[in-house]
Amino acid sequence: MPGLCATNNHRGFHGGWGLVLLGFALLAVSCASVPKASRRPPDRVVRMEVTGYCPCGTCCGWRRNWLFRPVLSSGPRRGKPKAVGVTASGTQAGPGTIAADPRILPFGTRLYVPGYGYGIVEDTGEDIRGHRLDVFFKRHAKALAWGRKTLPVKIWYATAPRP
Ligand SMILES: [Zn+2]
Repeated sequence: MPGLCATNNHRGFHGGWGLVLLGFALLAVSCASVPKASRRPPDRVVRMEVTGYCPCGTCCGWRRNWLFRPVLSSGPRRGKPKAVGVTASGTQAGPGTIAADPRILPFGTRLYVPGYGYGIVEDTGEDIRGHRLDVFFKRHAKALAWGRKTLPVKIWYATAPRP
Protein backbone atom coordinates (compact mmCIF):
# COMPACT_ATOMS: atom_id res chain seq x y z
CA MET A 1 0.00 0.00 0.00
CA PRO A 2 2.62 2.63 0.85
CA GLY A 3 4.23 1.83 -2.48
CA LEU A 4 0.96 2.46 -4.36
CA CYS A 5 0.39 5.73 -2.54
CA ALA A 6 3.86 6.87 -3.50
CA THR A 7 3.13 6.08 -7.15
CA ASN A 8 -0.15 8.02 -7.04
CA ASN A 9 1.58 11.03 -5.55
CA HIS A 10 4.19 10.80 -8.23
CA ARG A 11 1.50 10.84 -10.96
CA GLY A 12 -0.27 13.72 -9.28
CA PHE A 13 2.94 15.69 -9.26
CA HIS A 14 3.43 15.13 -12.99
CA GLY A 15 -0.16 16.23 -13.67
CA GLY A 16 0.55 19.45 -11.77
CA TRP A 17 3.61 20.23 -13.86
CA GLY A 18 1.55 19.56 -16.99
CA LEU A 19 -0.87 22.31 -15.96
CA VAL A 20 2.00 24.66 -15.15
CA LEU A 21 3.51 24.02 -18.59
CA LEU A 22 0.09 24.57 -20.21
CA GLY A 23 -0.12 27.86 -18.31
CA PHE A 24 3.28 28.94 -19.64
CA ALA A 25 2.25 27.93 -23.16
CA LEU A 26 -0.93 30.07 -22.92
CA LEU A 27 1.11 32.97 -21.52
CA ALA A 28 3.55 32.68 -24.44
CA VAL A 29 0.64 32.67 -26.93
CA SER A 30 -0.98 35.74 -25.33
CA CYS A 31 2.37 37.59 -25.32
CA ALA A 32 2.82 36.80 -29.01
CA SER A 33 -0.58 38.40 -29.79
CA VAL A 34 0.37 41.75 -28.17
CA PRO A 35 0.25 44.49 -30.86
CA LYS A 36 3.59 44.60 -32.62
CA ALA A 37 3.76 48.43 -32.69
CA SER A 38 5.88 48.60 -29.54
CA ARG A 39 8.25 45.88 -30.82
CA ARG A 40 8.66 47.43 -34.25
CA PRO A 41 12.07 49.09 -34.55
CA PRO A 42 11.75 52.89 -34.34
CA ASP A 43 11.31 54.82 -37.59
CA ARG A 44 13.98 57.20 -36.42
CA VAL A 45 16.17 58.03 -33.40
CA VAL A 46 16.77 61.75 -32.90
CA ARG A 47 18.69 63.59 -30.18
CA MET A 48 16.27 66.05 -28.61
CA GLU A 49 16.30 68.48 -25.71
CA VAL A 50 13.75 67.23 -23.19
CA THR A 51 12.24 69.23 -20.33
CA GLY A 52 9.41 68.34 -17.93
CA TYR A 53 6.08 70.04 -17.35
CA CYS A 54 2.94 69.68 -15.25
CA PRO A 55 -0.60 71.11 -15.60
CA CYS A 56 0.20 74.13 -13.35
CA GLY A 57 -0.07 77.76 -14.42
CA THR A 58 3.71 78.21 -14.49
CA CYS A 59 4.23 75.26 -16.84
CA CYS A 60 1.14 75.79 -19.01
CA GLY A 61 0.88 79.58 -19.14
CA TRP A 62 -2.31 80.21 -17.23
CA ARG A 63 -3.34 82.23 -14.17
CA ARG A 64 -6.55 82.75 -12.23
CA ASN A 65 -8.69 85.80 -12.98
CA TRP A 66 -10.72 87.78 -10.41
CA LEU A 67 -13.40 85.05 -10.51
CA PHE A 68 -10.63 82.53 -9.65
CA ARG A 69 -11.17 80.95 -13.07
CA PRO A 70 -8.10 79.80 -15.05
CA VAL A 71 -7.32 82.05 -18.02
CA LEU A 72 -4.39 82.11 -20.46
CA SER A 73 -1.64 84.42 -19.17
CA SER A 74 0.04 85.17 -22.50
CA GLY A 75 -0.24 84.90 -26.27
CA PRO A 76 -2.97 86.10 -28.65
CA ARG A 77 -5.68 84.37 -26.57
CA ARG A 78 -4.49 86.03 -23.32
CA GLY A 79 -7.32 86.30 -20.79
CA LYS A 80 -9.39 83.62 -22.56
CA PRO A 81 -10.51 80.60 -20.46
CA LYS A 82 -8.00 77.77 -20.12
CA ALA A 83 -9.10 74.14 -19.70
CA VAL A 84 -6.51 73.02 -17.15
CA GLY A 85 -5.09 69.54 -17.80
CA VAL A 86 -6.45 69.34 -21.35
CA THR A 87 -3.84 68.96 -24.08
CA ALA A 88 -3.66 70.86 -27.38
CA SER A 89 -5.05 67.77 -29.12
CA GLY A 90 -8.02 67.72 -26.69
CA THR A 91 -6.99 64.70 -24.60
CA GLN A 92 -6.64 64.63 -20.83
CA ALA A 93 -2.98 65.13 -19.94
CA GLY A 94 -1.45 62.28 -17.95
CA PRO A 95 1.75 60.28 -17.55
CA GLY A 96 3.04 59.55 -21.08
CA THR A 97 1.67 62.80 -22.52
CA ILE A 98 4.40 64.56 -24.49
CA ALA A 99 4.42 68.05 -25.98
CA ALA A 100 6.31 68.42 -29.27
CA ASP A 101 6.50 70.65 -32.33
CA PRO A 102 3.55 69.33 -34.37
CA ARG A 103 5.31 70.30 -37.63
CA ILE A 104 8.05 67.78 -36.80
CA LEU A 105 6.15 65.26 -34.68
CA PRO A 106 2.38 65.22 -35.40
CA PHE A 107 -0.18 64.28 -32.73
CA GLY A 108 -0.31 60.51 -32.25
CA THR A 109 3.44 59.98 -32.80
CA ARG A 110 4.80 57.41 -30.34
CA LEU A 111 8.06 58.21 -28.57
CA TYR A 112 10.46 56.50 -26.22
CA VAL A 113 12.37 58.94 -24.04
CA PRO A 114 15.22 57.28 -22.06
CA GLY A 115 14.58 57.72 -18.33
CA TYR A 116 10.92 58.68 -18.90
CA GLY A 117 9.53 55.79 -20.92
CA TYR A 118 7.00 55.50 -23.72
CA GLY A 119 4.72 58.41 -24.54
CA ILE A 120 2.50 59.90 -27.23
CA VAL A 121 2.66 63.36 -28.76
CA GLU A 122 -0.63 64.95 -27.65
CA ASP A 123 0.39 68.47 -26.71
CA THR A 124 2.24 71.57 -27.86
CA GLY A 125 4.06 74.35 -26.04
CA GLU A 126 5.11 77.94 -26.68
CA ASP A 127 8.82 77.08 -26.31
CA ILE A 128 8.50 73.64 -27.88
CA ARG A 129 9.88 74.29 -31.34
CA GLY A 130 12.16 72.07 -33.41
CA HIS A 131 13.97 69.27 -31.64
CA ARG A 132 12.43 70.04 -28.25
CA LEU A 133 10.12 67.94 -26.09
CA ASP A 134 8.21 68.52 -22.86
CA VAL A 135 7.32 65.35 -20.95
CA PHE A 136 4.35 65.32 -18.56
CA PHE A 137 4.61 64.90 -14.79
CA LYS A 138 1.71 65.09 -12.32
CA ARG A 139 3.65 67.31 -9.91
CA HIS A 140 5.57 70.50 -10.56
CA ALA A 141 8.44 69.33 -8.30
CA LYS A 142 8.88 66.20 -10.45
CA ALA A 143 8.90 68.28 -13.63
CA LEU A 144 11.58 70.53 -12.11
CA ALA A 145 13.57 67.51 -10.90
CA TRP A 146 13.67 66.16 -14.47
CA GLY A 147 15.55 69.29 -15.52
CA ARG A 148 16.81 69.63 -19.08
CA LYS A 149 18.38 66.69 -20.86
CA THR A 150 19.56 66.00 -24.40
CA LEU A 151 18.58 62.42 -25.15
CA PRO A 152 18.32 60.01 -28.09
CA VAL A 153 14.53 59.80 -28.56
CA LYS A 154 13.04 56.84 -30.43
CA ILE A 155 10.24 57.83 -32.82
CA TRP A 156 7.40 55.74 -34.26
CA TYR A 157 5.25 57.78 -36.63
CA ALA A 158 1.49 57.14 -36.58
CA THR A 159 1.43 57.48 -40.36
CA ALA A 160 4.15 57.11 -43.01
CA PRO A 161 7.54 58.43 -41.86
CA ARG A 162 8.30 61.96 -42.97
CA PRO A 163 11.31 62.51 -45.24
ZN1 LIG B 1 4.23 72.98 -13.29
